Amino acid sequence: MNLSVVDRIRAAVCEVEHHTRAAVPDAGHFTGEESRVYDWARQHTAHLAAEQQQAREALFYRQELEYAIAMGDTTAIRRHPCPQCGCWGLYWRPEARRAVCVNHYCTDANGLAHTWELKRLAQDHVARKSAVARRAT
Ligand SMILES: [Zn+2]
Repeated sequence: MNLSVVDRIRAAVCEVEHHTRAAVPDAGHFTGEESRVYDWARQHTAHLAAEQQQAREALFYRQELEYAIAMGDTTAIRRHPCPQCGCWGLYWRPEARRAVCVNHYCTDANGLAHTWELKRLAQDHVARKSAVARRAT
């Protein structure tokens, strides 16, 4: 996987479009400028159930993380606690394309360090954010 930036953006837009139409079939095709696709998707899905909107935001956030990593900013991973042990010791393992927990005690049944897909980190991140928003109201 070594897409150019343009290909990467196009793929991201395509994924958002597809995700939106899967939930709202009459959303139509997105024809605007690439940077507007998130607004477009939010507009068309604003009426959906909270968990569907949360899934949408997790997808956006996962794309954001993917983009940061593609640009060489793997420190974006460190802003997330390990979903298993809660420590702030995740680092990016490029060949596996997963975040790995640095905590020696945070291992699976085989004694291997827990690793996480960006998708999972994004889901947890969005869930935490919406929990904060709910408490604030
Ligand atoms: Zn951990």
